[in-house]
Amino acid sequence: MNTNSVTIDFKRFKQTLESSSDIGKVKDTGLYRLALSDEDKKMRDLFKKWMEADGLNVRIDDAGNMYGRRKGEQDLPPVLIGSHLDTQPFGGRYDGIVGVLLSLEVIRTLNDNDIKTKRPIEIVNFTNEEGARFKPPMMASGFLVQQFSQDFVYSRIDTDGLRFGDQLERIGYKGSPENRIKDIHSFVEVHIEQGPKLEQTGSDIGVVKGIQGMNWFEITINGHSNHAGSTPMHLRKDALMAAAEMIHKLEQKTADQSLLLTIGKFETSPGSVNVIPEQVKFSLDIRSDNDTVRNTFINEVKTEMKEISRRREAQIDIQDTWTSPTVNFDPALLDIIDYNSKKLGLKSLNLMSGAGHDARYISEIAPTAMIFTPSVNGISHDISEYTTDDDIYNCGNLYLGVVCELANRDKLTE
Ligand SMILES: [Zn+2]
Repeated sequence: MNTNSVTIDFKRFKQTLESSSDIGKVKDTGLYRLALSDEDKKMRDLFKKWMEADGLNVRIDDAGNMYGRRKGEQDLPPVLIGSHLDTQPFGGRYDGIVGVLLSLEVIRTLNDNDIKTKRPIEIVNFTNEEGARFKPPMMASGFLVQQFSQDFVYSRIDTDGLRFGDQLERIGYKGSPENRIKDIHSFVEVHIEQGPKLEQTGSDIGVVKGIQGMNWFEITINGHSNHAGSTPMHLRKDALMAAAEMIHKLEQKTADQSLLLTIGKFETSPGSVNVIPEQVKFSLDIRSDNDTVRNTFINEVKTEMKEISRRREAQIDIQDTWTSPTVNFDPALLDIIDYNSKKLGLKSLNLMSGAGHDARYISEIAPTAMIFTPSVNGISHDISEYTTDDDIYNCGNLYLGVVCELANRDKLTE
């Protein structure tokens, strides 16, 4: 079968995207569509209606993941495509939504042209990818690969104390465990880049090699509080000054390494203008796509932070709160994306994802890869998030070609 001459119907896609952009709309160009909210329900209902209208067999599993299966000529494990329809508060219209709605457009294009595939093709909308209302993010894809149990998932609460399990039931999307997807031939997720690399290099497409690893820490430094006016500098055990020296050192150490370091939370106490800080707490987010580089860095900075504390007569406690190793996607699948991208004359860039995605977990049970479409100014999770029509059109046609090729293959390497 040759899909070279077949292209997606972009006008139809735009209408679909516009319908989605109206559900939970904020400030003209933004979306506020948190997982399991009324807006999420409304979007799901519409998406379900669309999938059924396109002849897909719709299933919902016990984490609320939505699937729509297009039959293959043979009853084989399907090619899985899709992403997520939930957003951050004041998030954008594109994010993972582009991935889900382009998946639908791929199916519609195949239907229009009466193109049959050997394998079934299955669309997925993962529940609560964002983790904005119920933590952690990527909860329902993690659930599928047994990273999180059903009890754990159902017992997550939002800031109002509402349980995930109850809210899933409330919106009518608590499905059955039998509906969870098990055998997957391959999974390809389309998503916006959420960074500036594609735009800066003038690339049409990102072929995502994997997801960089990260570690989170919670640091507590205990010094001694005293009067700001009567304690000489050399007699102080100032927790904040110790933290400042550590943070300065941390930034210096990242200068010549392929590392990203962020301190997103910082608190001092007692927090009074004329009292020397007794305690400081701060978070550390350290990322790199090289696990060895990251782990060596972590060991070194732990030693140095302890040394600074000791010298300043403060106590330090370093808690590891989250570890996520680097994930490398399937090389054969990446080759297929590369090949199809060249066939369409697109300029592609191979890159690692800086953000987490559902593909991270699904890669544990199936050959997986991702395709990124450029983000204007690298902005995401914001109402100004934008991807151009041309870029989405190119990405959709690439997706179509890749999905067709996968759905007609026995193995990924032939
Ligand atoms: Zn996303």
